[in-house]
Amino acid sequence: MDYMLSIDQGTTSSRAVVFDHGGRVVAMAQREFTQFFPQPGWVEHDANEIWQTQLAVLREVLMHAGITARQVRALGIANQRETTVLWDRQTGEPVAPAIVWQDRRTTGFCEALRAAGHAPGIAAKTGLVIDAYFSGTKLAWLLDNVPGARLRAERGELAFGTVDSWLMWQLTGGRVHATEPSNAARTLLFNLKTGTWDEDMLALLNIPHAVLPQILPSCGLVAVTDTQCLGGSVPIAGWAGDQQAALFGQACFAPGMAKNTYGTGCFMLMNTGDQPVASQHQLLSTVAWQGPSTALRPLAYALEGSVFMAGATVQWLRDGLQIIDSAAQVEALAASVQDTGDVFLVPAFAGLGTPDWDGQARGTLVGMTRGTGRAHIARAALEAIALQTADVFRAMSADSGLALTELRVDGGASKNDLLMQIQANVLGVPVVRSHISETTALGVTYLAGLAIGYWSGAEELTAQWQEERRFLPQWQESQRMAHAQRWREAVARSRSWAQN
Ligand code: ADP
Repeated sequence: MDYMLSIDQGTTSSRAVVFDHGGRVVAMAQREFTQFFPQPGWVEHDANEIWQTQLAVLREVLMHAGITARQVRALGIANQRETTVLWDRQTGEPVAPAIVWQDRRTTGFCEALRAAGHAPGIAAKTGLVIDAYFSGTKLAWLLDNVPGARLRAERGELAFGTVDSWLMWQLTGGRVHATEPSNAARTLLFNLKTGTWDEDMLALLNIPHAVLPQILPSCGLVAVTDTQCLGGSVPIAGWAGDQQAALFGQACFAPGMAKNTYGTGCFMLMNTGDQPVASQHQLLSTVAWQGPSTALRPLAYALEGSVFMAGATVQWLRDGLQIIDSAAQVEALAASVQDTGDVFLVPAFAGLGTPDWDGQARGTLVGMTRGTGRAHIARAALEAIALQTADVFRAMSADSGLALTELRVDGGASKNDLLMQIQANVLGVPVVRSHISETTALGVTYLAGLAIGYWSGAEELTAQWQEERRFLPQWQESQRMAHAQRWREAVARSRSWAQN
């Protein structure tokens, strides 16, 4: 028997999964690692700890599965996106802590770029909005603030990478310094149309060419692991950013297919085929993946919408309001009332993402009466997750001109049946939960498996995908429209609150 091995290197934990030929989970291992918050708005990781926890779970999962590296046909790598690492090519040591995607330290730099009128040009080249979220300004910050870094980078002594590159470097014993397009597309340095690093963006952010990784396909035999790692060399044949990996793991291979992942935030991605779509509704335009041969299989693109507070709203009910003891309890509490009694919670605790992109919006609870209790607020929190998702969904339909007929879902909070039912009601299309919750790890295993011929093609994988449960809309169109309008009124009241 031979198996596939998968890395899911996330924001809070490193995971490894062994899959069999049926796409079933054979074994899984997971380790959390340290989150550093050195200043308000700053979030850092220790890149060495990321690698050590990842290596440990890779070894552990082989043990759990009772297999050796020899029985692994190929390895796939999915990773937290945008997090920025800068290391010494000679020693392999990071020159500073990794700057995590959530880190806001470069907000001022981003505001200056916007004030200088660069937003339309950057959107046209990279598909992104100017935001501290993306890697480019984080790398610029490291080059400017780590003593000697810029000079050493120009001399070719330092290597930049997002977490995919860092893992690739470590897995190959420092032999391969590379990335792939779905991660490169999150740096602000990558040209969406040409599929290469963009000289103008490098000049604008003052990034020397010598620090950049080589761009290799997402699906293809790109490297082999160093024998030290797993006790045998394993081909590395598939890699992608975690959200793009989940899109692939949900078998959204055809243009117009979309998935939404309900984690800390919500990330909805829609396959837009072989052309990037310029968003008119503040969505991101990004690479989905790239097949083994650029000539034969061009880049596939996606539209992406980001909701910052999804599962995090439930964490706030638990830790902030303390009206539940565990995240899972929110379902029973919310189900104890028929509706919210016209109460709306806008969880703009850190501003609003798609489609409002309002950094000054703040959390708002409107419509309370003397009859309002904790159950109404809990239900309003679930509705808020669903209504924010519906806003993104509508933006996607409008941008793509494609009628979305269903939404595939995954992620921790998608286990909540009431939330999924509310989601179907406010969307007006079926919400379909996948039978496998490890869609991120599965996605890169699929990419790797296609590259080495472990699976024959998209048809075979499409046949493997199974729905676990389908939630059908129960609201009339008029009720859905009225509710959406009421929600937008509540959102309007949260806007610009923190200004001045
Ligand atoms: P991440 O990958 O972002 O860490 P996960 O996919 O592990 O997220 O999901 C965890 C998130 O889902 C947490 O924010 C938690 O509050 C939320 N969550 C977990 N279970 C439920 C539930 N039953 N109902 C609503 N939210 C939940």
